[in-house]
Amino acid sequence: MRDHTLCPACGASNACTLANPATADQPCWCFTVNIDPAILEALPTELRNQACLCPRCAQVDAQLKADAGIIR
Ligand SMILES: [Zn+2]
Repeated sequence: MRDHTLCPACGASNACTLANPATADQPCWCFTVNIDPAILEALPTELRNQACLCPRCAQVDAQLKADAGIIR
């Protein structure tokens, strides 16, 4: 079984809250960002919809930092 807590592109932790029972009731970072469809399409088919990308591979670091600045 594939490990849903690891990024399929680089193998780093994807920090998905839904993949971790301890944080599954919290909204994941991926709900608040827009991921370029081209990034998802660049993944091999067998890796798509299996596990979350990590924020770095999804290229949303800048969006997450911007959101944090607004909220906190
Ligand atoms: Zn990654």
